[in-house]
Formats: sequence, structure tokens, C-alpha cells
Amino acid sequence: PALDPELMFKQGFLNDVFEERPKKPVTTRFPPEPNGFLHIGHAKAITVNFGFAKYHGGKCYLRYDDTNPEAEEEKYFTAIEEMVRWLGFSPHKITYSSDNFQKLYDLAEKLVGQGNAYVCHCNDDEIKAQRGGEEHGDRFRCSHADQSPETNLEEFRGMRDGKYKPREAFLRMKQDITDGNPQMWDLAAYRVLEKPHHRTGSKWRIYPTYDFTHCLCDSFEGITHSLCTTEFVQSRVSYEWLNKTLGVYEPMQREYGRLSITGTVLSKRKIMKLVTEKYVRGWDDPRLYTLIAIKRRGVPPGAILEFVNELGVTTAPSVIQLVRFEQTIRRYLERTVPRLMLVLDPIPVIIDGAEELEVDVPFSPKNPAMGSHKIKFTPTVYIDRSDFREEDNKDYFRLAPNKTVGLLHAPYPIKAVSFSKDETTGKVTEVRAVFDKETKKPKTFIQWVATESRTAEVRIYNSLFKSEKPDNADGGFLNDINPDSEIIYPNAMIETGFDEVKRRAPWPEAAGESELGRGGPESIRFQGMRVAYFAVDSDSTDSKVVLNKIVSLKEDAGK
Ligand code: ATP
Ligand code: MG
Ligand code: MG
Repeated sequence: PALDPELMFKQGFLNDVFEERPKKPVTTRFPPEPNGFLHIGHAKAITVNFGFAKYHGGKCYLRYDDTNPEAEEEKYFTAIEEMVRWLGFSPHKITYSSDNFQKLYDLAEKLVGQGNAYVCHCNDDEIKAQRGGEEHGDRFRCSHADQSPETNLEEFRGMRDGKYKPREAFLRMKQDITDGNPQMWDLAAYRVLEKPHHRTGSKWRIYPTYDFTHCLCDSFEGITHSLCTTEFVQSRVSYEWLNKTLGVYEPMQREYGRLSITGTVLSKRKIMKLVTEKYVRGWDDPRLYTLIAIKRRGVPPGAILEFVNELGVTTAPSVIQLVRFEQTIRRYLERTVPRLMLVLDPIPVIIDGAEELEVDVPFSPKNPAMGSHKIKFTPTVYIDRSDFREEDNKDYFRLAPNKTVGLLHAPYPIKAVSFSKDETTGKVTEVRAVFDKETKKPKTFIQWVATESRTAEVRIYNSLFKSEKPDNADGGFLNDINPDSEIIYPNAMIETGFDEVKRRAPWPEAAGESELGRGGPESIRFQGMRVAYFAVDSDSTDSKVVLNKIVSLKEDAGK
């Protein structure tokens, strides 16, 4: 199974978190800001939150933390939900922080009434000075902090009603500036933003901050365990302060380590650059590590869960090399997908004296439950250009003049007799061969396809960047782009077994998994024997198959 509860929930960090507050039903939330596409790091957050609730028989909300109208767009909402479901999780409910704007506003008024918030008109420099430090001396409060609750209420309503332009006024919580933690230094609760919101239109001109919104929305939803990443450790104190001060239900915030991947970039700004400058096809380009890209590439959702599971959840960040992620994907595919013969760059081999016959080929030598299929062996077969050499050599074990090689699943090995070349390109155009019935055990077997086969455009991917740390490259990450990150084979051929692989995708009976990931072209996956793992790309049409390489068969093969 992709998620092993023993490993993930019954021990370690998530077990401790539960033991600390063994409250049922466990209620969690995954709270993305809809300002970009999710990436591999978010898969950890999704697995932690949805998985933890599911394990304890509880519920998990998908909450769009949509309080910043400046950065949010409709398309992100849909993509985020799709990815959560693709990973096999169902939100208990889909909620929006913005649904609580009125409730949040009322609580802000309450805070003001209590004398625990004030409207401040200071500018950035003034605020900086108030925060103290070497340059500024002791921390202090501005005079706005002395205003009466009545004045603050009037001012806050003024903010709401359009009396102030952005930055002219903001609501500050009156916390504890003697606390060593900057999260207690009178944080902003509301700011004026003259931007229409995609859900509430122009109803509001003031919007609550993360620090004000998050803990309260958690409270409204009855979140028992609010799990977030460790950059919020310092925020725990303000999170607790606000709920306590307002006397509302208090969820418990705990923090786990982020997941990051080396050898790629995950930041929105950088991916945007790759997209707009056309280094990649789009946000879902299979060389990227957004979840939509990983999905398009054909990585099964179960492999992602398995990856997160293997890394475990602790308070330490996980900084993981791409090869390690690929290793998990490869292991997962090895036991879950059928095998087919595919030839990237075909050359015909005419076998003199051979006759057409039918051979029965298992879909997986390791898993008989996958069954078998019949393919034709034809007197002309196609092999990969790289499996033939014009000149033999004793360290070479594939096809060459006078040399014998095995053809996988074929009745006999073949021996090349002669070949022809195109005068202008110098490329081999045809090989003539005969069966070699004497050689019982050829040293090497190669894959082939019959004359009756399917054609495809195959996109072979290598790492998008040359180094493990693209950000450290001289002149920035764009200077680290690998010019060979995508190699296209426009005329590849696949054996006819592909039709059945397509029909039965995603082979859940073999994966021992549910319907996870069924549906899209990317769920049609197979191992191209001796080549790589492949999935069908969304660029495919009725008349043209496009395949993506998911991962290589062995760790070094893809370099
Ligand atoms: P980014 O800036 O990379 O998009 P973010 O923290 O702004 O990340 P949000 O949309 O706010 O992303 O994230 C939703 C949830 O996912 C948060 O709880 C956040 O802690 C978590 N999350 C984001 N990135 C990671 C990561 N790399 N590893 C684990 N969890 C993450
Ligand atoms: Mg984000
Ligand atoms: Mg964020």
C-alpha cells in the first residue's frame, strides 16, 4: 500500500501530536492560498492533513485561504481541488476563508471593543522604528495605541467605509511588545486594499491578514490539530493569543518540516519565468515539479504518497534529491505497470526465410496476474537504431554483420547478413538478417516491433537543470538549464499490445490499489522494455499518440 499508517500515523511526530490532544473526531484542514499551482511540497501537506484525519476516522477540510485579492485567480481553485482528489483524498467540505469575512469583521470589532486592537496610521519606517533593534533602541508603541476603544471603533469603521486609502490606516492587534517573539509586536489584523475580491466582489475594502484569519477560521471549523510547516513555529504564540483573547474555541497548532527537492525550482516566480520565456511548455510541463506537471508526466499518485510516507514526518525539513523521488517512482512502477516493446528510432530488419507467426507475451514476467497478450512476429521487424552497429567488436553484444542477437519473445535469435545506407545522411536504412537456429542462448536480447504496430511521438526527459542547486548558478537558475532536457523521437513504434494496455489502464488490479488516478491519458502507463517507463501525454489525439518518459529503468540511465 502507498500509505503505511504504522509508519506515518502510529509513531513519530503525528502520533505525538495526536497523543497530546486525543480529541475525536480529529478535524484537520489543508489551507492553500489560491495564488499558484501546488507543487511536490504541497503533496506532503495534503498527505499529512488528509491522511491524519482519515487514519483517525475524522475529517479534513479543503480551505482556500483567499484573503488576498491581489494574488488570487479562479484557475488555481479548480487545479488545487483536482490535485487533492487525484492524490486520493476527499475533502469533508470545501470552504473559503472569505466566507467568514463578516464573522471575522465582527470579531475584529469585538477585539477593538475589548481594547485589544487599535487603528494605526504609521508608515513602514515608523513601524520599523517601533520594533526596536540595534539601530532604533528599545521597542515602543506609537500614540495610536493610546486611543480609546470608541475612537478605534470609529476609525476601524472608517477604514471599512472608505475613509482611508491603502496604507493610510491599518488595524493592529494590541499584543505584548515586551515578549521576545516578534509575532507579539502588535501585528496587523486588517489592511485597506481597494481591490475587488473574486468571491465577494467590491463588498469589502478591508481585508484580514493571515495572522488574524488563520487561527480564527481554524476555530470556526472546529479544527482539532492545525498542522502547518515549521516557518510558523513563531506564529504559534500569536495564533494562541488571538483565539484566547477573543474567547473562542482553541485549536492546537503544531509544525512539521517542509519538503523540498533539489535539482529543480519550486518557487512560483521562477516557474513563471520558465513558462513565459518558453523554456518549458507550461505549468504542467513534465520536467517541472508542480503537481499538475508530475501528473501529466505519468507519475502515479500512489507513488507520491509512498514517497511522502518513506520520508516520514518530523519537525526537521526534508531536503531530497530528485533521484530519490525517481527511485520511489521506479519501484512503484516496477510492480504496477505492464511491459511492452517499444522502439524509439526504428530501422527495419528483413529476416530472410522467416514466416509470420503469433507469439504469446506476458505483460509482466514478475506478476502473472497481469496476464499475457498475443503479438505477431513478422518477417520484417523493427529494432532500435542503437541496437545495430555497422562494425562488430568483441565487447559488443547486439546486432552487427555476422553477429547474433536474441529478439525478446521471438522464436529464434537473428544474425545480420548485410545492411544498406542512405548515401546522403550516412544512416543505416535497412538490415538483412537470417534466423540463427544454432545459437541457443544469445548473450543479449533486444526489443523489436512487428510491421503491424502503433506509431508514437516519444518525449524523453532528462533533468531540466544541470546541477543540484540551480539557484547557485552564476547569473541565476536560467543559466543552469540543461539543453538536453527534452529529446523528441517523432517516429517511435510500439507493439500492438499497447491497445490492451490503454483499454485496461491504469491496471488497478495489478497495483493492488483503488481507482486512484483513473481517467486521464497519463494513467495509461507501461514499461517500454530496455528503454524507460512511459505514460500517454495529454497532447495525444485520436490520430497521434504522444508518450512521456516517466523515469528511466535504472538510476544512471537517464543522465
Ligand atoms: P509556496 O510559497 O511554495 O506556494 P506556501 O506556504 O505559500 O508555499 P500555501 O498555499 O500557503 O503555500 O500552502 C498550503 C499549505 O501547504 C500550508 O499549510 C503550507 O505549510 C503547506 N506547504 C507549502 N509548501 C510546503 C512544503 N514544501 N512542504 C510541506 N508543506 C508545504
Ligand atoms: Mg502558496
Ligand atoms: Mg502561503
